[in-house]
Amino acid sequence: MKLLEQRIREDGQVLPGDVLKVDSFLNHQVDPELMAEVGKEFQRHFADQPVTKILTVESSGIAPAVFTGYAFKVPVVFARKHKSVTLKEDMFTSVVYSYTKKVSNHIAIARKFLSADDKVLIIDDFLANGQAVEGLIDIINQAGAQLLGVGIVIEKTFQKGRQLLDKRDIPVYSLARIKEFKDGQVVFTEEQENPDGAEA
Ligand code: 5GP
Repeated sequence: MKLLEQRIREDGQVLPGDVLKVDSFLNHQVDPELMAEVGKEFQRHFADQPVTKILTVESSGIAPAVFTGYAFKVPVVFARKHKSVTLKEDMFTSVVYSYTKKVSNHIAIARKFLSADDKVLIIDDFLANGQAVEGLIDIINQAGAQLLGVGIVIEKTFQKGRQLLDKRDIPVYSLARIKEFKDGQVVFTEEQENPDGAEA
């Protein structure tokens, strides 16, 4: 998605440890016009899928997830993060190691918001080592729901998340794919192909 790549080039900051800071439009301040385009693009890509629910993790997945839910006209559920969790019967829980914060968090979703009838699209801001997505997949499996695919705003292809998901044949669509950080600059992979020839 050219618009997103351009914004990353203009406003993204490469930090030590292969972390990209995008707090001016995605992770802290949010650009709603850009997020609306992000939501539309995920909807366009997964349009032939019978999505009933969007799942993400708080807090930075919420903005792109909500706009995607708006485009699909389906509810959005975000997993809540806790340092520790008192296991409650009314919650699905999993453990996620945070790449940026170097701590493990429990994530939890209330059982009443996810059922075996749901067909789920996961949306998240970044794909790095895949831990956040794995945690959500664990919860989807606990609920007996069906995972249709994963939409990622910014993928770092040099980290192992994509490989993990590809191995399990999970469809992943990323709007910006970063090959490497070189001399403090972002280097993108070639554009992902669009089945209908439209520019992503
Ligand atoms: P993963 O679980 O795939 O290792 O990492 C995904 C989560 O870590 C994302 O939801 C995001 O919050 C955070 N994250 C991973 N890499 C980056 C990065 O380069 N920049 C920012 N801002 N967050 C990141």
